Amino acid sequence: MKTRLSDKNIRRFYRLLSVRMIDFDCGELCAPKHGGIPYCCDNSGVVPVLFREEFKWQRKMDSFWKRMPVRTKVDRKLIDETCPHNILAECSGHKRCIRSRRSFICMTFPFEPHIGRDGEILGLAYIDDGHDGCVLLKKPQKIYNPAYIANSILFWQELFDVFPEEMELYAVESRGRERRAKKKGKKVRIFKQRNGKR
Ligand code: SF4
Ligand code: SF4
Repeated sequence: MKTRLSDKNIRRFYRLLSVRMIDFDCGELCAPKHGGIPYCCDNSGVVPVLFREEFKWQRKMDSFWKRMPVRTKVDRKLIDETCPHNILAECSGHKRCIRSRRSFICMTFPFEPHIGRDGEILGLAYIDDGHDGCVLLKKPQKIYNPAYIANSILFWQELFDVFPEEMELYAVESRGRERRAKKKGKKVRIFKQRNGKR
């Protein structure tokens, strides 16, 4: 399969996303409500998706990340239906988490890009997957480091330059998020870069 993400891309994305998102350890807030495991680190419920090259890059170092094992028919179906440029994986668990070895998806959670009707990134929106295990989901923008918001938007823009099909998927999700918000009589909360910078 053709390599789409170069090591240079990967190093740049890590640099962008390594900026601290918040000034406290949110895992300490959500883990007690989730059997002692931070909700987003529970591989039994949230399966991280890594880009194929990201996974290979991680595996060059050690086995901190492994492919998700096939335990059930549902796992098999999930793997079979995953885009060819992605790998479903499991890390070595929250007790052995190494900050610098988190996946892109670990570093962007609980946000995803909210896409406008012309295909532009309007900002970040909270992931709306029907689960509320993440205590950050109700928090206002002021708790987030503005540099993190800016870098994360830049990450998504550069990622979509490499994987335009990912942008299409997020655009579909963005329309769904808008519909769900409208049904509740609300607007989607969009976290934008401050100072007018994009
Ligand atoms: S991002 Fe959300 S789910 Fe993950 S550790 Fe922080 S509060 Fe918990
Ligand atoms: S790498 Fe760290 S942050 Fe990511 S899922 Fe594993 S324990 Fe959580």
